[in-house]
Amino acid sequence: MYKDLDTSLRTIMTPGPVEVDPRVLRAMCTPILGQFDPQFTGIMNETMEMLRKLFQTENHWAFPIDGTSRAGIEAVLASIIEPGDVVLVPIYGRFGHLLVEISQRYGAKVVTLETEWGTVFPPQTVIEKIREVRPKIVAMVHGETSTACMQPLKEIGAASREVGALFVVDAVATIGGTPVKVDEWMIDAAIGGTQKCLSVPSGMAPITFNSRVEEVLLRRKRVERGLAERVTSAEWDDGVIRTNYFDLSQLMDYWGPARLNHHTEATSMLYALREGLRLVLEEGLEARFKRHLRHEAALMAGLEAMGLSLYGERVNKLTPVTAVSIPAGIDGEAVRAMLLNDFDIEIASSFGPLKGKIWRIGTMGYSGRQKNVLHVLGALEAVLLRFGAKVNAGKAVQAALDVYHDK
Ligand SMILES: *Cc1c(COP(=O)(O)O)cnc(C)c1O
Repeated sequence: MYKDLDTSLRTIMTPGPVEVDPRVLRAMCTPILGQFDPQFTGIMNETMEMLRKLFQTENHWAFPIDGTSRAGIEAVLASIIEPGDVVLVPIYGRFGHLLVEISQRYGAKVVTLETEWGTVFPPQTVIEKIREVRPKIVAMVHGETSTACMQPLKEIGAASREVGALFVVDAVATIGGTPVKVDEWMIDAAIGGTQKCLSVPSGMAPITFNSRVEEVLLRRKRVERGLAERVTSAEWDDGVIRTNYFDLSQLMDYWGPARLNHHTEATSMLYALREGLRLVLEEGLEARFKRHLRHEAALMAGLEAMGLSLYGERVNKLTPVTAVSIPAGIDGEAVRAMLLNDFDIEIASSFGPLKGKIWRIGTMGYSGRQKNVLHVLGALEAVLLRFGAKVNAGKAVQAALDVYHDK
C-alpha cells in the first residue's frame, strides 16, 4: 500500500538542510549500542573532544543537545535565564527574533536593539547599549541566514565580559563554514547546527559553554532526579530551571563521568555527528573555511556576471549563504519551482520583509562543491532566460570557472 521511499537525488543549495556526505549516511547504519555501553560512552567522549576543536575552545563542556538547532538555543537560554533577568538581544534578521521569543518564554526582561535587514551593527553601537543596560545576558546571532549577513563579535564579547554579562551566540549557520573562535571572542555559550555547514542531518545541536555559565547552572536550585517533590513552591518560582529536557545541569551529569540517566541519547544521530566532525577535522578547519570562501567567490562572480545584484552589505556577508535580488517582474517562486522540477536543484526564498524580494543560495558543507555551483548558475540562467528576464547569457558559468581556474 505504501511504496518504498524513492526520493530524488537533489542538488541542495539552500541555507539548510544541505546534502550529506555519503560517509555520514553510512555511519548512520552502524548497529545500535546501549547508551551506557562502554563503546557508546567512548563515542560520546570522542564527540565531545572533536566538538572542542570545532568550537576552538578549551571549555570542558561541549556536547550535542538532541533536537534541532533551536533545541540548543533553548537549552542554553532556559538554563541560564532566571525570571526577571535582563537579556539584551541586538536583532538584524529573523533569528534574532527567535532569541527574543525564547528569552521571553523563560521570564526574561528583554531589551532589543534593531538594525535594518541586510546590515549588521557597528560593534560600538552594541557596546554602548551593553554599558547602558548592563544585562545579565547578551544574546546574538553570528550568521543570519535570513539576510546572509554576519555580525563581527569579538569586541562585543569583550564588552559583555567587562560588565559581567554572559555572551550567548547562535553560531548555527557559521560553525564549520567560517571561523567561530569561542575562547578568543569571549563567547560564554555557543550553539551550532548540524544541517548547515557541518553537513549532518538535522536533529542535533552541538553546544559549548564555559565555567562562567557552569557557575550559574550550579548556583540555581537543582532538582534531584525523581525528587522534585522536595522542591518548595517558593523555589519553583525562584531559580529552578523550568525545563527537564533542556536542563543543562542534568545534561552535565549525563555527559560527565557520573553518567546519570537523563534522556536516551539519539544513537544514530550521534554516529552521524561523530562522522561529520571526523570529516571536518580531516579536511582541517582552515582548509574548510578557505573552501567555503572559494565557492562563495565563484557563486558571487557568476551571479554578478549574469547581471543580477547581490543583496546586503558586502563587507559583512555571511560566507556560506549568498542572497540575490529577484529581478523586477520575475516571480521568484516560479523560478524556484522550475529549478526543482526540471533541474533537481533547490534554492531558498526568504522571510518577512524579504519574502519575494531575494533568493538565498547556500554553499554550505558538502553542498559546497564546484559541480553544484556551476550547475546552479547554469540552471538559474536558463530558467531566467525562459521567464524573459534580461540576463547576460553565457557569462555566469564562465565567470565561476575563472574563479576556479584562478584566472
Ligand atoms: C537554521 C537556523 C536556526 C534554526 O535551526 P533549526 O535546526 O531549524 O532549529 C537558528 N539560527 C540560525 C542562524 C539558523 O540559520
